[in-house]
Amino acid sequence: MRLSRGIVCECAGVSACPDGAPNGTCTTQPGGYCFVTVEELYDENGLMVPERTAGCLPPDESGFMQCKSSQVPHQTPKVIQCCEKDLCNRRLHPQLPEPPPDMADAPPAPPPAHTALLAAALGIALLAFFAAFWLLLRRRRRGCKRPPSPPAPATLADVSSGSGSGLPLLVQRTVAKQIQMVESIGKGRYGEVWSARWRGEKVAVKVFFTTEEASWFRETEIYQTVLMRHENILGFIAADIKGTGSWTQMLLITDYHENGSLYDYLQTTVLDPQSFATMAYSIVSGLAHLHMDIFGTKGKPAIAHRDIKSKNILVKRNGQCAIADFGLAVRHVAERNEVDIAPNTRVGTRRYMAPELLDERLDAANFEAFKMADVYSLGLVLWELCRRCAAPGPAPLVEPYALPYHDRVPPDPSFEDMHAVVVARRERPPVPARWGAAGGALGAVAALLAECWHHNPPVRLTALRVKKTLARARSEDAGKLV
Ligand code: ADP
Ligand code: MG
Repeated sequence: MRLSRGIVCECAGVSACPDGAPNGTCTTQPGGYCFVTVEELYDENGLMVPERTAGCLPPDESGFMQCKSSQVPHQTPKVIQCCEKDLCNRRLHPQLPEPPPDMADAPPAPPPAHTALLAAALGIALLAFFAAFWLLLRRRRRGCKRPPSPPAPATLADVSSGSGSGLPLLVQRTVAKQIQMVESIGKGRYGEVWSARWRGEKVAVKVFFTTEEASWFRETEIYQTVLMRHENILGFIAADIKGTGSWTQMLLITDYHENGSLYDYLQTTVLDPQSFATMAYSIVSGLAHLHMDIFGTKGKPAIAHRDIKSKNILVKRNGQCAIADFGLAVRHVAERNEVDIAPNTRVGTRRYMAPELLDERLDAANFEAFKMADVYSLGLVLWELCRRCAAPGPAPLVEPYALPYHDRVPPDPSFEDMHAVVVARRERPPVPARWGAAGGALGAVAALLAECWHHNPPVRLTALRVKKTLARARSEDAGKLV
């Protein structure tokens, strides 16, 4: 039965209490509920401390925002209970579920019959996760008082030690609040990237244009995919959305790489064969990890990037690269062999588009097709890298930096420009004889290019195949050095 008046609830914890609420209580709208949530947060020592939040839920959000969601697994372990009598939530103490047994060591298994159910549960969990963001944002818009911040990890090393599904939501918000912007370091089509400080350490903050909420949402969602963390994928730290009534700011906080993008780096740097091999191998390893389906309860879906290019790859201080910019990525739903396409119509960069994208023959329902298009773009990036690798010798020879098709199309090529070159004339970037003659990693990569950017997608190599071939070339090189 719904009351015609609101009910009084205990309110305590992050974002739950409205301004001026008399000592720790709030009153719901008619038909509203009292709630209590308990969420896993971590203190400075990385120890789990359950965080209790209590408050009022308006009627429209009660069903949506998870009064029933305790049954589904959350990205951040969390339970919620609701009740409908004055101050009834004082007596609610929901218990966090026991952590599931660790499956990390289990060998990859083919998808079992119940994975469809699991996928559905995970889908609901993701929905609840973003519903929580939405709810917090709405509360702020209504002028909620912000209580003290929940504990955040002490260092970035604590952040990156996780399994890859990201920090608990409230900890991410805390990190986002503690950021000090330093300077603008890059502009893409979808946002501006800043270097910033968090507790004395440098981080990168991507601030999305207000019109690009879908890109922020998608990129955040992809970074929080289970097992996404990899040394050749840009390290995710936190995402936050904040706003007043009239504007919204969407942030994505990641590791900072002072060398910038591969595109920037190659302008001024000539690579010796060893750093060339390290970079090529790391890019291919990052892509192979992204493309890999890892089955099992804690598995990772295969992900296709859809915007592989040198501006979306960063150069780390150790000489390896990390793939970034996941605003366009799609995930594989293995159980139904489907593509999970986000409601985001952004398309990739024309210069790097595979022929089947340029002539619109890519079957968007076939996930493998997106991986094949990524490998085409990978071929072009490897070509950019090859040009900057100097073969050893008294007068090392390199080609100047160039974008793929730099001498075939104008600076901002149209679809038609690209179509004429890549599809109609089937041209590909030139491969100088010196690359093959150099042998070693340069020779090995040069020999792979044609099979990466082949016109016929199924003929192209997989990222994993490229990775294995480069691994062999590197170990042969190492053998020669001994
Ligand atoms: P967009 O979606 O707008 O293209 P990106 O994520 O590709 O945004 O970033 C735009 C540019 O900002 C990159 O090409 C790179 O030069 C720079 N950049 C992005 N992230 C970082 C980072 N973590 N460290 C250093 N530079 C970065
Ligand atoms: Mg980009």
